[in-house]
Amino acid sequence: MNATPYPHLLSPLQVGHLTLKNRTLMGSMHVGLEEQVGPLTNLGAYFRRRAEGGVGLIVTGGFAPNAEGWVKPLAGRLSNRWEAYKHRAVTDPVHEADGRILLQILHAGRYGYHPLCVSASDIKSPISMFRPRALSDAGVERTIRDFATCAQMAKVAGYDGVEIMGSEGYLIHQFVAARTNHRTDRWGGTFEQRIRFPLAIVRAVREAAGSDFVILYRLSLLDLVENGSTWDEVVHLAKELEKAGVSMINTGIGWHEARVPTIATSVPRAAFTWVTAKLRPHVSVPLVTSNRINEPVTAERVLAEGHADMVSMARPFLADPDWVNKSATGREDEIDTCIGCNQACLDHVFENKHASCLVNPYACHEAEMVLTPAATPKKVAVVGAGPAGLAASTTLAERGHHVTLFEASDEVGGQFNLAKRIPGKEEFHETLRYFRRKLEVTGVDVKLNTRATADTLAGFDHVLLATGVHARRVRFPGSERANVLMYADVIRDPSQVGKRVAVIGAGGIGFDVAELLVHSGGQETFESFAKTWGIDTTAESRGGLVEPVDAPPARDVVICQRTRGRVGARLGKTTGWIHRASVQKAGVGFLDDVAYDRVDDAGLHVRVSGQPRVLDVDTIVVCAGQEPNRDLEESLKAAGLAVTRIGGADEASELDAKRAINQATRVALAL
Ligand code: FAD
Ligand code: NAP
Ligand code: SF4
Repeated sequence: MNATPYPHLLSPLQVGHLTLKNRTLMGSMHVGLEEQVGPLTNLGAYFRRRAEGGVGLIVTGGFAPNAEGWVKPLAGRLSNRWEAYKHRAVTDPVHEADGRILLQILHAGRYGYHPLCVSASDIKSPISMFRPRALSDAGVERTIRDFATCAQMAKVAGYDGVEIMGSEGYLIHQFVAARTNHRTDRWGGTFEQRIRFPLAIVRAVREAAGSDFVILYRLSLLDLVENGSTWDEVVHLAKELEKAGVSMINTGIGWHEARVPTIATSVPRAAFTWVTAKLRPHVSVPLVTSNRINEPVTAERVLAEGHADMVSMARPFLADPDWVNKSATGREDEIDTCIGCNQACLDHVFENKHASCLVNPYACHEAEMVLTPAATPKKVAVVGAGPAGLAASTTLAERGHHVTLFEASDEVGGQFNLAKRIPGKEEFHETLRYFRRKLEVTGVDVKLNTRATADTLAGFDHVLLATGVHARRVRFPGSERANVLMYADVIRDPSQVGKRVAVIGAGGIGFDVAELLVHSGGQETFESFAKTWGIDTTAESRGGLVEPVDAPPARDVVICQRTRGRVGARLGKTTGWIHRASVQKAGVGFLDDVAYDRVDDAGLHVRVSGQPRVLDVDTIVVCAGQEPNRDLEESLKAAGLAVTRIGGADEASELDAKRAINQATRVALAL
């Protein structure tokens, strides 16, 4: 009996000589474990977990074929037998767990953050400070040989094949696009000449690695930059790649320098699978689709509607290595869903730290963070059911402790119940669903509508104080007036806010509040998203770009900060630009170097760089950060209880859910 709701997702797929057990591909993602000195054991442990969790095909993060191709100095590369030997610590554990794995060959070209970087032409990229050297004709030939050697070494290392990174604006893409290829020799000029480089690489790789080796090619279907490829050019290249010997084509969307969000949480789910579907009639090799697919039901729909043969997800497997097995056994409500925040994965990589995951702090720390049964099960009270309290109580219960979770309000989730109301942050609902289910599965005794006190907590062996934060109030003449509102009240009921608004504070919450207030309501669709960001929904125009159309904002909003400098400068590394661009599209103004003087009937009186100014607003929303809520701590200690603070109750400065969940999980693993 085949009762699975995911018959397409869970059916096998033949790719070259490999029979894959299902249609899930763990997309390539650099996590920082690639540069381990000696055998890549940590990377092996990380991928083994994903193979055990049922992923059909894994692709590693990018490895350079030579030093010029490094993403950064001393980044992972594979060019000789000694380096190949290190990779056995990756391929062996994956194969032992019945997984299949490809090595991604990534030559960064002008995205290389080092002085050795090269490209088709010496045109600097807007996202690297290093101007690339244009490869000579001999240099191009040598690079092609290096790709072939890398693939050969990948075979020696035990990989089932390679993915050739031909999209996202990396070297191969730099040759393909007229934007970055101004050469006049046989590698530049017409489109036929510009695609000579990728085709030569594919042929050389096939020749070097033989027929029993998968070649996956990541092809950009939508460049989202000026002077990118046209649709006809994309189709032409796809057909030529097939002739050159690729086994399967993966979908790339957007150059890294594109100013269109492609994977952030505000991008609608499966927003770009229609582009893969558009290519399908033109090639006969299997196609992989990608971007913002995080739930089995979405993946199944994409496959059932014929958009692709396989679905690529990278971050969802960071968030939950057991995603496939849970989907296959009717436990999809237990999936720890990737919320597309980038906070612990891509942001970390761009900050030169190891990646992890906001919702799953074990990710990339598999060797170090191990859940073991408690030596002596204790009676533990956790006070506060925000992200910290939820992560701690479920981890403690998993370890065999007897856990009671006290929450003052009528629902679990703490500030996530505010975050989920922000347009573009709807994915936060999934984290709440995950934790609600995990509380049930792990048997935590949840007491809602119960404000814990020292009396309530008497008799517990240990108390974890996860009471979160108090929003910081601001004090100046008039700040007590009825039109000066705190962010939590505004998020719960935006209807009380007037048409002209000043937001005090330009942190994540200030921006979120601005986003909420300019939004005119209604669900974001792919069409409205595409209009805002200027995406051509036919993909026919060069680069897939059209003129953006800004929706009229519901309110006039200005965001203020006291610090001099760029407003919102401390927002996430890879998503801050989206938050800034998104509210600016809605006409939100930014003021820095602001001193707040008073509020009266004329509005908010400020000094901007010392110059007095009246902001003619009818509502002021205070988003001025938070302070720890430790109201209970003294009384608990006085009662002789063992207390450990976690999350915002411990430290409110620069607190976010990533830190709250990570700290809480680690405390719970150690108790
Ligand atoms: P909280 O979430 O504040 O939870 C504390 C809980 O304790 C509350 O439920 C409270 O009712 C309960 N409580 C307090 N006292 C008692 C008591 N005596 N007895 C019982 N219960 C009690 N973070 C990110 O990382 N990424 C984001 O994109 C993001 N967006 C955000 C957007 C908004 C609009 C907001 C408001 C926050 C956002 N955050 C984001 C911040 C994130 O939500 C917080 O950092 C996180 O919730 C802190 O977790 P916590 O468990 O320490 O505290
Ligand atoms: P925050 O990032 O600390 O920002 C607080 C803002 O208030 C700052 O702009 C600060 O700037 C201003 N401020 C501080 N004290 C003030 C005072 N006394 N008077 C007036 N202004 C004051 O805090 P937040 O925005 O409340 O966010 C809380 C946490 O949630 C953050 O750590 C954030 O990472 C997380 N979060 C993340 C996201 C995300 O998308 N990743 C979204 C929301 C929240 P000046 O001092 O310059 O005025
Ligand atoms: Fe997804 Fe955020 Fe985890 Fe990255 S950190 S994998 S985006 S949930």
